Amino acid sequence: MLREVNYFSTRVHVRRDMGFEEIAASEVVIGDEIEVRMGELLPIDATVLSGETKMLHRSSLDEGSAFFVSSGDAVSSGSINLGAPIRVLASADYNASKTQKLYQRYKVTLQRKSSTEIVFDRIGKVFTVCGIILSLVLGVLIPLLSGGDFLRWLSPALIVLSINCNDRFSTSVYYAYYCAISMFAKIGIIIKNKSLLDNFYKIRHVVFDKTGTLTEGVFSIKELVPHEGVTKEEMLRYAAMAECRSDHPVAKAILDAYGEIDFDKTVDHELEVPGEGICVAVRGERIYVGNYHLMDRAGIRYLPYYSDGVVIYVATETKYYGCIVLKDEIHASSFKTVDALYKMGVTTITMLTGDKKNNAENTAARLGLQRYFAELLPEDKVKQMKHIMEKNRTGGYVAFVGDGISDAPALSAADIGIAMLDDIPTDSAQSSDVIMLTNDPFGVAFLFGVSRKLHRSIFWNTVLVVAMKILVLVLVILGMLPLSLAVLMDGVCSLLMTAISWNVCKIKWGKN
Ligand code: ADP
Ligand code: MG
Repeated sequence: MLREVNYFSTRVHVRRDMGFEEIAASEVVIGDEIEVRMGELLPIDATVLSGETKMLHRSSLDEGSAFFVSSGDAVSSGSINLGAPIRVLASADYNASKTQKLYQRYKVTLQRKSSTEIVFDRIGKVFTVCGIILSLVLGVLIPLLSGGDFLRWLSPALIVLSINCNDRFSTSVYYAYYCAISMFAKIGIIIKNKSLLDNFYKIRHVVFDKTGTLTEGVFSIKELVPHEGVTKEEMLRYAAMAECRSDHPVAKAILDAYGEIDFDKTVDHELEVPGEGICVAVRGERIYVGNYHLMDRAGIRYLPYYSDGVVIYVATETKYYGCIVLKDEIHASSFKTVDALYKMGVTTITMLTGDKKNNAENTAARLGLQRYFAELLPEDKVKQMKHIMEKNRTGGYVAFVGDGISDAPALSAADIGIAMLDDIPTDSAQSSDVIMLTNDPFGVAFLFGVSRKLHRSIFWNTVLVVAMKILVLVLVILGMLPLSLAVLMDGVCSLLMTAISWNVCKIKWGKN
C-alpha cells in the first residue's frame, strides 16, 4: 500500500456544511475536523477525535515503526494512515506544522552554498576559461603558425573545449552534498548550513551533556523518602503540584508517579531554575522541588540524602516533606557512540552534568569517558566549555552535544553546537548549529561519519577529474585521441564520480 501513498500530498478532506470536502492543506485552520482515509498522508499536526488505526511516519518507511493511534492522541504531520479512516482535529495550521517547519529549515540549508562548493565553483570556472583559451590556441593559433592546416587541429580543439567546459568539479561536489543532506533529512538531522559539513570531521573533542543526552532522560522513581510525619502520597502531591507545568524529565517522572491530576493547576507564581529545580506559589505558600542547590539557595532546612540516583527534595518555606530518588538509564546507543567517535579520530570525550558527582562518576566509568565534571549549573557548563576550547585552540574543533534549554549557552559557546530535541525548536535553535530530532546520541557519530565520507569523496572526485583532464590533454597533443573516445572517457568519468559521491549515502544508521 505504501507504493500508492502520495508522500507530497498537501490536500485534506475537511468537514464543511455539506460533508467532507477536499481542500488545500494551506486553507485549514486550527480546530478544523479532517478525515484521514486509508493510504492518505496527513500534512498537518492534529489530535485524533474519533477512530483507531495504525499509522506510519513518512520519515521511517519501515512498517515495523508503525504506531497505533486512538482518540486523544497527537499525530504529527507526515503520518500515513495504514488502516481504518479516522477523524482528527487540526492542532496547528499548515505553516506551523512540523513537516512544513522542517522543510523551511532544509530550504534555507540547501540555498546556501558551503565553502567547499564555492571553492570548487571557482576552480570549475578557471578550468572552463583555460579550456576555451587552450582550444583557441589549438584550433586557431597553432594552424596559423604552422601553415594553415585548420582541419588537422579542429578535432583536438573541440575535444579540449568539450572536456573542459562541462563543470565536472562543482557538479560532483553538489551531488555529494545532496546525498549527505538527504541522508540527514531521512533521520531528522537539520544542519544550519552546508559549510558545517566541511568541519565535522575536524572535531577532535566532543563534550556531552549527561541527562537526556547520554542517558535516556526518562526517569523512573527509585525511592520515596518522606520526612517524619509526612506520608508518601502527601510528599508526592506537593511535588506534582510544583511540577505540573514543567517539561523537565524529572517533572514527567514525578507526574507519572502521581497519576491523574486532581488539583487546581493554577499557581500565583512560578520560577523554574535551570539545573536546580522549580519553585511555585500556590495560595500564598511556596513549594520548592529540586536538588540541594535549590534548597541551599532558598535557605531551606532539609535532610541531605545520599543515594546513587538523582535526589529531588520537596519542601515549603516552613516544612520539609522529604525526598524522591529517581533513576535514569544510560542510553543503549551511548556505548557504541563513544566507541565509534574514538575509532573515527576523536581524541577526548568529556561529560558535563548538573547531576551529583557519584552519579556522574558511575556513568563516565561505564561509558569509558576520560573526563567528567559534575554538579554544574548552566553557567558552570559554559565556563567549562570555554576552558576546554581554550585548551584545545590548536587541536581540532570542539563540539558540544546537549538536549534541553539549560544547555543553550554551552551550545553557542562551542565551535559546533549539536542540540538533541524531540520537536522543532524556536529559541534553542538559535544557539545550535545542528538540530537532531531524535533522542539517539548515535546521530553525533553518524554526522561525523558522513562528513568524513563526504570529504573523502570530494578528494577522490578531484583526483579523478584532474587525472582525466591531464590524460586527455596529453593524448590530444600527441594526436592519439579520437573525438568519440574522448566523449566516452568523459562519460565514464561522470559515472565514476557519481558512484564515489553516492558512497556518502552508504553509511547505515546504527552501523559504521
Ligand atoms: P544535566 O546537566 O545532567 O543534563 P539538567 O541541567 O537538566 O541535567 O538538570 C540538572 C539537575 O537539576 C537535575 O538532575 C535535577 O536535580 C535538577 N532539576 C532541573 N530541573 C528540575 C525540575 N523541573 N524539577 C526538579 N529538579 C530539577
Ligand atoms: Mg540535559
